[in-house]
Amino acid sequence: MTDDQLELHLPAPPASGDSPLIPARMVNEFVYCPRLAYLMWAQGEWAETGDTAEGHRVHARVDKPNAPLPAPEALESEETPAGDKIVSRSMTLASATLGLVAKLDVAEAEDGLVTPVDYKRGKRPHVAEGAYEPERIQIGLQALLLEEHGYRVEEGAIYYAESRERVRIPLDETLRTAARTAVSELRLTVSQSRIPPPLRDSPKCPRCALVTVCLPDEVRSLSGSSLAPRTIAVPPDEALPLIVQSQRARIGKDGDTMVPMGV
Ligand code: SF4
Repeated sequence: MTDDQLELHLPAPPASGDSPLIPARMVNEFVYCPRLAYLMWAQGEWAETGDTAEGHRVHARVDKPNAPLPAPEALESEETPAGDKIVSRSMTLASATLGLVAKLDVAEAEDGLVTPVDYKRGKRPHVAEGAYEPERIQIGLQALLLEEHGYRVEEGAIYYAESRERVRIPLDETLRTAARTAVSELRLTVSQSRIPPPLRDSPKCPRCALVTVCLPDEVRSLSGSSLAPRTIAVPPDEALPLIVQSQRARIGKDGDTMVPMGV
């Protein structure tokens, strides 16, 4: 995080039965930008962009659930011969202990080990860790969920659809700690009901799905920033208001057409 974002000095409230489970992909958003996660998770904001539509297209391949993984004991037993690979798609795992839920694009089981595989649009980034931090945290959380359910996990993987490359993400202590810390910080941020400040002059903002809701440069400008707000490309909004003025009027739908149904 940058030093001008929300500073978190308090311990996060523990995960409890009262608090909703946080999706691992929301923790990804939080690490990318705490304000973005807050807008999405606490305020329910969402906007489709070309990037999100492309993400749906990539996930369509793996968004066809098949049988979930066998129980951990079955994977370790002779019922599962060595070398046999079991692939489960779109498996949902939740943990009240971790306060998390995730839908795993793919979980591969082989020789008693399970590897979560997350599908991402775009090309593999050429960074030392193999993937950017938000994506590594997300796959780390999926691995922790698998462990919580009794599976043995040593690493996760991210498959980049555009470059068709698969990157290994070892589940080491550094990733475990970073993943748990990110969940805790998100929970604390939401519990404080205080929206984090926008990023400062970040290249992430112009592409952000919620830039027109967040207004990062404008908010910073009102707080005294000397940077001029960048121009926002407002997406076309194809929705139109429908005004109904008669009391008890009923509106029906005929195909894609709204039709009055009388009063
Ligand atoms: S516009 Fe920038 S600061 Fe605002 S939510 Fe998006 S990435 Fe975060």
